[in-house]
Amino acid sequence: MTSALPEPTAADAPPEKRDFIRQIVREDLASGKHTAIRTRFPPEPNGYLHIGHAKAICLDFGIAAEFGGQCNLRFDDTNPAREDPEFVAAIQDDVRWLGFDWAELRHASDYFEVYYLAAEKLIRDGKAFVCDLSAEEVRAYRGSLTEPGRNSPFRDRSVEENLDLFRRMRAGEFEDGARTLRAKIDMASGNINLRDPALYRIKHVAHQNTGDAWPIYPMYDFAHALGDAIEGITHSLCTLEFEDHRPLYDWCVAQVDLAGHPELLQPLLARGLPNQAGTPRQIEFSRLNINYTVMSKRKLTQLVADGLVDGWDDPRMYTLQGLRRRGYTPAALRLLVDRVGISKQNSVIDFSVLEGCLREDLDAHAPRRMAVIDPLKLVLTNLPEGHEERLAFANHPKDERFGSREVPFSRELWIEREDFAEVPPKGWKRLVPGGEVRLRGAGIARVDEVVKDAEGRVVELRGWLDPESRPGMEGANRKVKGTIHWVSAAHAVAAEIRLYDRLFSVEKPDDESDGKTYRDHLNPDSRRSARGWVEPAAAQAAPEQSFQFERLGYFVADRHDHRADAPVFNRSVTLRDTWAARA
Ligand code: ATP
Ligand code: MG
Repeated sequence: MTSALPEPTAADAPPEKRDFIRQIVREDLASGKHTAIRTRFPPEPNGYLHIGHAKAICLDFGIAAEFGGQCNLRFDDTNPAREDPEFVAAIQDDVRWLGFDWAELRHASDYFEVYYLAAEKLIRDGKAFVCDLSAEEVRAYRGSLTEPGRNSPFRDRSVEENLDLFRRMRAGEFEDGARTLRAKIDMASGNINLRDPALYRIKHVAHQNTGDAWPIYPMYDFAHALGDAIEGITHSLCTLEFEDHRPLYDWCVAQVDLAGHPELLQPLLARGLPNQAGTPRQIEFSRLNINYTVMSKRKLTQLVADGLVDGWDDPRMYTLQGLRRRGYTPAALRLLVDRVGISKQNSVIDFSVLEGCLREDLDAHAPRRMAVIDPLKLVLTNLPEGHEERLAFANHPKDERFGSREVPFSRELWIEREDFAEVPPKGWKRLVPGGEVRLRGAGIARVDEVVKDAEGRVVELRGWLDPESRPGMEGANRKVKGTIHWVSAAHAVAAEIRLYDRLFSVEKPDDESDGKTYRDHLNPDSRRSARGWVEPAAAQAAPEQSFQFERLGYFVADRHDHRADAPVFNRSVTLRDTWAARA
């Protein structure tokens, strides 16, 4: 039989989509092993997602979309102590913000009843036993990388006794930690994960989804493998640290054999949850690591708890919420993931790659505006008092579709203090006493007088605007060395401008070999707030609108604090990499 359309081949895919995982998916579709692809993104709701998760999200949802499949969002909520509905809501928000949507929203806790039945099945099959060893004893029995472990003295309990004890564990009869349910695999295995790993533990803790219904909770490996099997996940993509867990994952799927035991899925049918019991394949890829960042929920949580940042969405945080507030765009993060690629090779990406992706996206998609961060007044004395004009400015230098706007211009302007030098350094191209500069889009100005206060600080410049240099005039293209930006003092809106920089000042804030921790490496200049002025068309922006403030960088109207009458802008990224030079 031939099909009308050729199967997609790796060679047809753009280079960034030719990774080994997509290759496996292509082959599985071509060989007929699978007719439809199903993936899942399985966060534990114990914190906010960070930029590393963006890689997993783009991969899980991206592959499903590219191959016409489905991706579920599954909360791996098997560890109730640290989980919270706040995180459940935020994670959904983040996934949508990145541009993805899920086929099914599930919780591992939706499957607690199935996991329980599966555990009883393992007990009946002689594949699991209730163990009374304490955590410490279990460790002692486990052996080491070089020594085999020893069998638990409880390993040979009868099926009846195991069933009885397990049911009483469920009924809440025993204290936390008094017993565990363990898989009966091989205490001599070279893979420590296979040395009779725990499948269930006793924990009298309320659960964010199931409340007080359960005093026992399944362990991650067991729950994760069965969750994938229940949902008919074909390719279960995870990070490399789970490579050693794969044999256990496969053991759980095979020994429980949900596909061959539909009665175990009965509780789902009763709740109207569709399931597609199948045999998933776990495939590992390397984590995203970026220098100058910490990327672990634990450390990010600690930064918030210790008040070292202003919450989860502090624009300096590497959470998706923080990056979003900083002005990172979904497109920039997707570009980063594509650019970094998928492999099994661990590597550390330079922070400048992340910033480069944002610049690339915003250069193409952010309208231009003018703003002044550190204002100095320039009075053009040859213009009459009350003089006012509206100048037409293109919103984007390379893309006409952005249209144009009117920028008010008048006798008194704010310019950037650093664009004037009384004693210019070598190579200076901006304003000096008696010198000329082009005022972006308005004409050529000269400084005639420098007004100072009692302390000798420059408080105002007074000068002259060459009437022959105005837009449309003969002299408009006359050459001068520099061009500076400005805003009309009478029209500009006072704005708070938050100048963010990298949160850490060293490449490896995680490296504790010198006895320091990431807390010792916070960049003291990572946040500065300035009172500046923005042109009216910037003040009017909706929250989360990004702009290039000409000559200054890319800025975003703060998601929470920005108002048209009290604008707040966050610097997302500078126009150029200012860190490369420091290194
Ligand atoms: P952390 O170690 O930061 O606490 P985690 O791995 O415990 O993160 P989970 O909620 O378990 O967080 O992760 C959900 C998914 O995201 C997992 O499949 C995990 O492998 C993946 N993931 C987590 N961190 C990264 C990363 N840095 N790069 C790529 N994928 C990641
Ligand atoms: Mg985890």
